Amino acid sequence: MRTLAKTKREPGIWMTDSPKPEVGHNDVRIRIRKTAICGTDMHIYKWDDWSQKTVPVPMTVGHEYVGTVDAIGTEVRGLTIGQRVSGEGHLVCGHCRNCRAGRRHLCRNTQGVGVTRPGAFADYLVIPAENAFPIPDDIPDEIASILDPFGNAAHTALSFDLVGEDVLITGAGPIGIMAAAICRHVGARHIVITDMNDYRLSLAKTMGASRTVNVERESLPDVMKTLGMVEGFDVGLEMSGVASAFRQMLDTMNHGGKIAMLGIPPGETAIDWTKVIFKGLTIKGIYGREMYETWYKMIAMLQGGLDLSPMITHRFDVKDYLEGFETMGSGKSGKVVLSWT
Ligand code: NAD
Ligand code: ZN
Repeated sequence: MRTLAKTKREPGIWMTDSPKPEVGHNDVRIRIRKTAICGTDMHIYKWDDWSQKTVPVPMTVGHEYVGTVDAIGTEVRGLTIGQRVSGEGHLVCGHCRNCRAGRRHLCRNTQGVGVTRPGAFADYLVIPAENAFPIPDDIPDEIASILDPFGNAAHTALSFDLVGEDVLITGAGPIGIMAAAICRHVGARHIVITDMNDYRLSLAKTMGASRTVNVERESLPDVMKTLGMVEGFDVGLEMSGVASAFRQMLDTMNHGGKIAMLGIPPGETAIDWTKVIFKGLTIKGIYGREMYETWYKMIAMLQGGLDLSPMITHRFDVKDYLEGFETMGSGKSGKVVLSWT
């Protein structure tokens, strides 16, 4: 079968030919139909410090996908051959305290599909059956292929009450933009999103942001004044991983504000802690998606009218994957989807 894999410890990803994986007792094998390129895949492609430390080589990459169940292990119940599924990319241990308490997103022994175990950029993917998530018929393949990052956005945005609240999202990457769509869908008031990439800010506007701010040209406090915001943001969603963006968020939060942090800043990023303390801020770190509550919420929001389709701006056949990676790296795209059928 075809795979896109990291086969050398240097920049690049290569199309390889690998044996079709066997399905274990508790597994499903998925015939992949569509995959999407994630920021993580870009890091692995570029072979940055994080990837060099984290990813064993050779490794089939990719973790955003949709496909159909092609084989089922003997112990598996509740899935049928031919059923459309996407899947949770975090594999958890099942025996740590959090796993046993049903808080699987907090497992301390998480493995990542396409990061530390074989990924979805392949004709076939084998995962534990419990990681497969059935896709209702009214959700198209393309949308189902981006549920993983939509799930990051949902887990982050739904961490705090958004109804009638003023929300600041720092970073209009695909996940920040989808978070704006969720804030709009569930009834936030001002949804302000910052970035310095005008292409992405304009997509954020399409998807539901009420005000976009290019931080290279505009002052966020001035924008807040024009919106009549005299106190500050109630909820902050940090989705850039950039220290200056996080500091700007701390500056503009109201007292008692709540921040959910998905973006991954450099390890020892310094902040003015007095802002956290005297404003009485709550800061929550977010990893992945809640298993599987986030997945149910995503399906419900999509079926309830949240339209993700403008997020998919580019489509390629998998043979043109290099063009796909280039497009994703250009900063002038939403999600880039590769077709395997
Ligand atoms: P991305 O890199 O595509 O988007 C980040 C955006 O932040 C970019 O558009 C960039 O221009 C913008 N940015 C840079 N400096 C900024 C500034 N000063 N102010 C405002 N915006 C600024 O990333 P993504 O794929 O959308 O993911 C968002 C973040 O979440 C990344 O940091 C990623 O590593 C992280 N992430 C975390 C998890 C997790 O489980 N915690 C999962 C997925 C992604
Ligand atoms: Zn565990």
